[in-house]
Amino acid sequence: MSSSGVLQAGGNITVDGTALWTDILETARIGGTPKGGVRRLTLTEEDRQVRAWFAAACTALGCTVTHDSMGNQFARRPGRDATLPPITMGSHLDTQPTGGKFDGIVGVLGGLAVLRALHASGFETRHPIELINWTNEEGARFAPAMLASGVFAGVFTEQEALDKTDRDGIRFGDALAAIGYRGEAPCGDHPVAAYFELHIEQGPILEAEGKTIGIVTGVQGMRWYELTLTGRDSHAGTTPMTMRADALLAAARIIEAVSAVALAHGPNAVGTVGLLENRPNSRNVVPGEVFFSIDLRHPDDAVVAAMEADLRARIEQIVTDAGIGLEMARVWDSPAVHFDPACIASVRAATDSFGYPARDIVSGAGHDAAYMARVAPTTMVFVPCAGGLSHNEAESAEPGDVAAGANVLLRAVLDADIRLDA
Ligand SMILES: [Zn+2]
Repeated sequence: MSSSGVLQAGGNITVDGTALWTDILETARIGGTPKGGVRRLTLTEEDRQVRAWFAAACTALGCTVTHDSMGNQFARRPGRDATLPPITMGSHLDTQPTGGKFDGIVGVLGGLAVLRALHASGFETRHPIELINWTNEEGARFAPAMLASGVFAGVFTEQEALDKTDRDGIRFGDALAAIGYRGEAPCGDHPVAAYFELHIEQGPILEAEGKTIGIVTGVQGMRWYELTLTGRDSHAGTTPMTMRADALLAAARIIEAVSAVALAHGPNAVGTVGLLENRPNSRNVVPGEVFFSIDLRHPDDAVVAAMEADLRARIEQIVTDAGIGLEMARVWDSPAVHFDPACIASVRAATDSFGYPARDIVSGAGHDAAYMARVAPTTMVFVPCAGGLSHNEAESAEPGDVAAGANVLLRAVLDADIRLDA
């Protein structure tokens, strides 16, 4: 659809950026921290309060607000044709323990700004428009992340999700019931025409390039590995260098290789060793065993596979040369997600209609949209955040950028409203 399609579809409507910013500051008080961040773990009292705020705000705009058996909230604005499935927007209102005011929140409150703009103008869409607040996107209290959108998309069963426990042994299902959000409607029994998610980039690219909008084409592929290297504990003073089996030295060489492999498959490849346990971890013992993780990511699954093959060959060589035993397991494989070309075209047309500086971008992090892409045409819109900083109380975004993102969300939804089921 060209931008003329957007203009036909209420192209003169824009969001109220001031009201959106006020909403961000108001909700940031629920679980607000002294350092200016937000601590609003899923299914806590703070989560209950922000859910009630969300429901009241949407109801005031004429929406019907419901929640399903996983506690996902849906605010529905009717369209002209009640037989059509809704065009949806969404993200999450839960945060990390030391989270910021924007991660997830911009997507939900940006969607609220869209509903407010439609309500204020009285514009009638063909499809119902729905705004979704997903339960437990962060996975900080109940692992894994994106748990409820995962159930919605059939990635996890509802029972396995309900049985997850937090560090205090509290069941997800019990915590959900305790805050009053275990709904009757089965999670996932809810057709969706399209899904759009506005989010901060959580990386530094848009800011560095002076772009306002990231047109998100997909989510990169990720693979996680766990390795145990086995050498021989021995005395640091009496064991000659030539007679050691130093597991930590071999690990260091592998860490170097992870970085080299990522650089060799650049510029879009990343490789990280973020967790390492050295045993016995004593200052005068040559380390006999090391356990560590590897995280490899690239937008193209074929490149992720090539990175793995390259890395495995280098690791084999390192452990053979060092006389070290190796156990290596791939513990997670998340294929690259390619968002829907028509939804991406709607975001592009919307961005062009405002003339915002923009670039295509692949998400480096997981989002609810990655699971929604399995069950509905889906894409995302990114806006910059200061220094690329996220999952941090100092997370920051500019009011103008957030409003621009919500404007793109609005026009992309209106564009899809014309184009879909036509
Ligand atoms: Zn998020």
